[in-house]
Amino acid sequence: MKKVIYLDNAATTRTAPEVVEAMLPYFSEFYGNASTVYGLGSASKKAMNESRDTIAAALGAKSEEIYFTAGGSESDNWALKATAEAYKSKGNHIITSKIEHHAILHTCEWLEKQGFEVTYLDVDEDGKVKLSELKKAIRPTTILISIMFANNEIGTIQPVKEIGEIAKEHGILFHTDAVQAFGQLPINVDEMHIDMLSASGHKLNGPKGIGFLYIRKGVKIRSFVHGGAQERKRRAGTENIPGIVGLGVAAKRAVESMPERTSKEIELRDYLIERVLKEIPYSRLNGHRRDRLPNNASFCFQFIEGESLLIMLDMDGICGSSGSACTSGSLDPSHVLLAIGLPHEIAHGSLRLTLGEETTKEDIDFAVESIKKIVEKLRSMSPLYEDFVKKNK
Ligand SMILES: *Cc1c(COP(=O)(O)O)cnc(C)c1O
Repeated sequence: MKKVIYLDNAATTRTAPEVVEAMLPYFSEFYGNASTVYGLGSASKKAMNESRDTIAAALGAKSEEIYFTAGGSESDNWALKATAEAYKSKGNHIITSKIEHHAILHTCEWLEKQGFEVTYLDVDEDGKVKLSELKKAIRPTTILISIMFANNEIGTIQPVKEIGEIAKEHGILFHTDAVQAFGQLPINVDEMHIDMLSASGHKLNGPKGIGFLYIRKGVKIRSFVHGGAQERKRRAGTENIPGIVGLGVAAKRAVESMPERTSKEIELRDYLIERVLKEIPYSRLNGHRRDRLPNNASFCFQFIEGESLLIMLDMDGICGSSGSACTSGSLDPSHVLLAIGLPHEIAHGSLRLTLGEETTKEDIDFAVESIKKIVEKLRSMSPLYEDFVKKNK
């Protein structure tokens, strides 16, 4: 196989070798069910508790506030559905934003069918929620605000602490989808007034199919899976011990390496952004210039189709994305790019490159040269571009 330049770390990441190594004994050596009394089961339980402690420490939370789930989508579903249910006697109104992940948006649409009312806040041209709009949207019946920590497509980081303060002032629960942020940005649930937080292992060099929901002590929340007494009776099912161990190790290494890794990523990201904007005409950066995920660069190129660009990049061994992995395969432009005010024809020409811990300057240089060549080629075949050039001569 030829060398792959993997620039789609927002879709998923490579499981780090030491994460895999830490998980392996929990498949066939320490395979006991954590709910049993014998030593083999206790080994599983001990490993699970250690992982829970690591994650709690990373957030400034208590261990008993961390609930393991099967990933980000489940955590998002649980946070919204189960608080809506538990607090419906208090009110039926939920506030979210137009640029959330579909795990939030589609859950909100489902809740609307159950009789809840949802306000989808607009964002500004950088993708930030406007705090004044948030305050205006609050009603006496508002029970929950769910705003993502950082956007998976355009990388914009939200003013989470300010949102948390507003929620707290009004006695409203605050959930944040931190799937992209956990392991990339420092998070403290107390300082930021976060009541619930979703995260997922495979976005931080951990395994797929494991994640967690942080639920602040005292928040009323219904069980998500009924059955056994696992996860304080709130999420039944024999625990995914190898996954939990892997998630713990991934979280530990992400937190420990954060300052050095992210400053390197920011440097490479800015180098990538600068080169693309300077060397490719009619290109734009999506998302906030500064307040963005250390590894995210999102562009739009006029007069081309993002899908064609992706296919040709793949031929050069480069993995990128045109929006989020979840919307690829659909021809609609990304809801996020439309929400920041881009017209359809520009939103169609999008490219998201997300760096990882292994990305090098050589990778970026190779990618930029490849993008330049492909964009030029695609434009040379575009009647729209031809017209545009003629008109502007
Ligand atoms: C990837 C992602 C999810 C979904 O997580 P899974 O573990 O794949 O279910 C949710 N929200 C955001 C912001 C994401 O990037």
